[in-house]
Amino acid sequence: MIEPANVFQGVDPFLASRFDALIEKFAKQHPGDDAKAIHDAFALALRMHHGQKRQSGEPYLIHPLEVAHILCDMTSDATCLVAGILHDAVEDTAVTLEELRKQFGDAVASCVDGVTKLSKLKFYDREERQAESVRKMLLAMVKDVRVVLIKLADRLHNMRTLAALPRERQERIAQETLEIYAPIAHRLGMGKVRAELEDLGFQYQDPEAFREIAEAIDSKRKANESLLGEIRTAVQTKLRREGIDARIEARLKRPYSIWQKLKRQKIGIDQVYDLLAVRIITDSVKNCYAALGTLHGEWHPIPGRIKDFIAIPRPNLYQSLHTSVIGPGGQPFEVQIRTEEMHRIAEEGIAAHWKYKEGQKGGVAHDEQQITWLRQLVEWQRELRDPGEFMATLKVDLFPEEVYAFTPKGRVIVLPRDATPIDFAYAIHTEVGNLCVGAKVNGRIVPLKYAIKNGDVVDVLTQQGHLPSKDWLSIVKTSKARNKIKAVINTTERAKAMEIGEKHLEREARRLGVQWKKITKDQVQAVAAEYGFPKMEDLHAALGYGKFSARQVLIKLAPEQVEAADRDAEPVAAPAPAPVRGDDKDLIIRVKGIDDVMVYRAKCCNPIRGEQIVGYITRGKGVAVHSLACTNVQNLLYEVERKIAVEWAKATEDSFAVKLTVSTDDRPGLLSQLTAVVFHEGSNIRALEAQPDDKRADGSAVINMVLDVRDKRQLERVVAAVRRISGVRDVERIQ
Ligand code: MN
Repeated sequence: MIEPANVFQGVDPFLASRFDALIEKFAKQHPGDDAKAIHDAFALALRMHHGQKRQSGEPYLIHPLEVAHILCDMTSDATCLVAGILHDAVEDTAVTLEELRKQFGDAVASCVDGVTKLSKLKFYDREERQAESVRKMLLAMVKDVRVVLIKLADRLHNMRTLAALPRERQERIAQETLEIYAPIAHRLGMGKVRAELEDLGFQYQDPEAFREIAEAIDSKRKANESLLGEIRTAVQTKLRREGIDARIEARLKRPYSIWQKLKRQKIGIDQVYDLLAVRIITDSVKNCYAALGTLHGEWHPIPGRIKDFIAIPRPNLYQSLHTSVIGPGGQPFEVQIRTEEMHRIAEEGIAAHWKYKEGQKGGVAHDEQQITWLRQLVEWQRELRDPGEFMATLKVDLFPEEVYAFTPKGRVIVLPRDATPIDFAYAIHTEVGNLCVGAKVNGRIVPLKYAIKNGDVVDVLTQQGHLPSKDWLSIVKTSKARNKIKAVINTTERAKAMEIGEKHLEREARRLGVQWKKITKDQVQAVAAEYGFPKMEDLHAALGYGKFSARQVLIKLAPEQVEAADRDAEPVAAPAPAPVRGDDKDLIIRVKGIDDVMVYRAKCCNPIRGEQIVGYITRGKGVAVHSLACTNVQNLLYEVERKIAVEWAKATEDSFAVKLTVSTDDRPGLLSQLTAVVFHEGSNIRALEAQPDDKRADGSAVINMVLDVRDKRQLERVVAAVRRISGVRDVERIQ
C-alpha cells in the first residue's frame, strides 16, 4: 500500500493542494473519521488517470477531485468521496469493478458502477446508449441514493467547466442537463444544485437568450438593489414590531426562472416587473403564518399568488409559504416564508435527510419519500423497451411543473401539468383507473380529456367490468396511466386473439377433414413447443394474430389427412372463405334455402335479432344483412336482382353490441341506477362514458354506452326501463 506521504511525489502542485483541502474539509465535517480510504482512492486515481488530460489541457484528475469537493460540500460520507474520486476510473481507465470491490468494498464498487455509462460497443446509437445509461443509473439510485449525489456532482462540475468543449457538445450536454439532471435534482428537493444546473444549462443551451436576460438584470441591478435594500429594511422593521424573529434574504431572480416566466407568459423581458424576491426565514411554523399576515397587512397581496406549501408540501417535501405583494413605489415582489429546517430541506433535499440518517443506519436512506417517488418511476419505466419512448416518458415524469388536485375526501393527488381525470384515477389506484368511465370536477361532469387544474376536486366515476380504451393512450400524461392501460389492452387483445385462433384452428380442421376430436391436447402442446411456445394458448394467440396459418399447424398434427384433402380439392377451386354452415354454432343469420354463403351484419344499421332484415349480395364479400328500415339498403336495392331473403337462425345464444346515448340531468346516483336497470334487464355493459352535454350549459350530461343485447325485444325493454329513471331526458340508439 502506498503511504499517504508518498502520494504527492511528483504530483501537480495544484492537484496536491486541492486534495489537501478536501482532506481538511472532510476532517472538519467528520471529526475522528478515518480518511485512509480517501487517500488510497486518490493514490489509485493518480496512477490510473496518469497522463490523461481534460479538453481544457488540465490534468484529468482535477475533475474527479472537484467532484469529491462538491460531494464534501454536501457533507457526504467517506464512501461517497471515495466513489467520487474513482467515479470515472472504470469508464476511462484499465481499472475493473472487481478491483475496486476488492480494495474499497461493495458500496464503493456499486456506486461507481451506477454512474458508469454502458459500453459504446453494445449499443447501436447514441440515443439508445443514453437511454440505457440513464435507466441503469435510475435503477442504481433506488438501491443507493449516493449514486445520484455522485452523478449530480459529476454533472455539476462538467457544467461549470463546459466552456472548454466544442459548441455542438455544449449544446447536447446542456440540453440533457435541463431535461434530465436538473429535474432529478428538483424531484429530490436539492434546490441549490438544481438552480446552478438550470442556470448553467440555460447559458449553454441558448446563449443569446441568456445574454439578453443577464444584461437586462444587470442594467436594472443598481435600481433593484437599492429597492431590495429598502424592502429588506421595511420587512425587518415590520416583523420586529410584531415580535417575529427572522432573517431576511433579498435577491434578484435567477436567469433561468425569468426565462421560464417569459416563455410561459409569452412576454418580453421589459414586461417582467417582478425581478425581486425576498426570503423570510423564521423559527417556527406559527411565525411563518404570522409573517405572512404582517406582510399582507402592510402591502397589498396579488390575488392568486398565495400558495401554502406548508400545509400541502410538494412531493419533494419542499415547504414554504409563497406570496407576491405590491411593495413600496408600486413595485411588486415575491416572498417565500419558511423555517430554518424547511430552508435546509429546500436547499439540500435528499442530501439533508442523508446527513440525518447517516449516524443511525450506516447511511442508506431507504424510506425517504423522494426515494419512493424514484422507485415508482423506475417500476413504471421497467416495461418500456423502446429507448425513445423511455426517454420521452421519463421527461414527462421529471417535468417540474405539477398540479395539485383533491379527491372528494381531501386527499392530495399531485400530477404533471395537463394531466387528465384518467391520470388522476390511475394515481389513486390501478383498479380505479381501469374502471373509470367519467369524472366530475368540482361537482360538474367533464370530458375525460379535461386538463386538471390546481385545486380541482376530482370525483372519478367508475363502472364495474369496464375496461380502458385504446384512445386513452393519446390523452393521458403520466407514464403510470399509460403503462397500466397498455397492459390491460395487451391482455384483452391477447385473450381475443387466443379465442379467434382456437376457433380458426377447429374450423380449418373441419374444412380439411381432419378428425379434430381425435387430436389430443398433448399433440397440440407438442406443436406449440415446436414453434417455441411454452403453452398451447400461446399457439392459439399466434394463430389469432395471424403470425402463421392454421394449415401449417394442421400439417404437423395430421399430415395424411391434410394431404388427402389437398388431393381431393379441385385444382380450379378458389380458396373458399370459411363458409358459415347450418350446423355451425357461430351462425346467427342465414340465407333462406342456401347453406354455405358468407353473411355478415351491415355496420350502417347493425341489425339485431328480432328486427326485420334483408340481404344484399355484395361483390365478393358475401351477403350483407341490413335492417329493413335502413336507408342505405333502400338506396342499394334498386338493383333488385341483388336482393336476397335472409332470416334469423334459431337456437343461438349470441348477443349484439348496441350503442345507446342517454341524455340526462346530472344528479347523484344516476349512473349506478342506470347500470342497475341495465343489469336487471339481463343485458351487459361493454363500455360506458359520461360527458358534459356540450349543447346545453345547464350541467346536464350525456352518457354513451355499448350494451350486449340478445334481440330487439330485450333492447326495447332496456330502453323503456332507462327512460323511466328520473332525470333521464332521452335515450337514443346510435347507428
Ligand atoms: Mn465524470
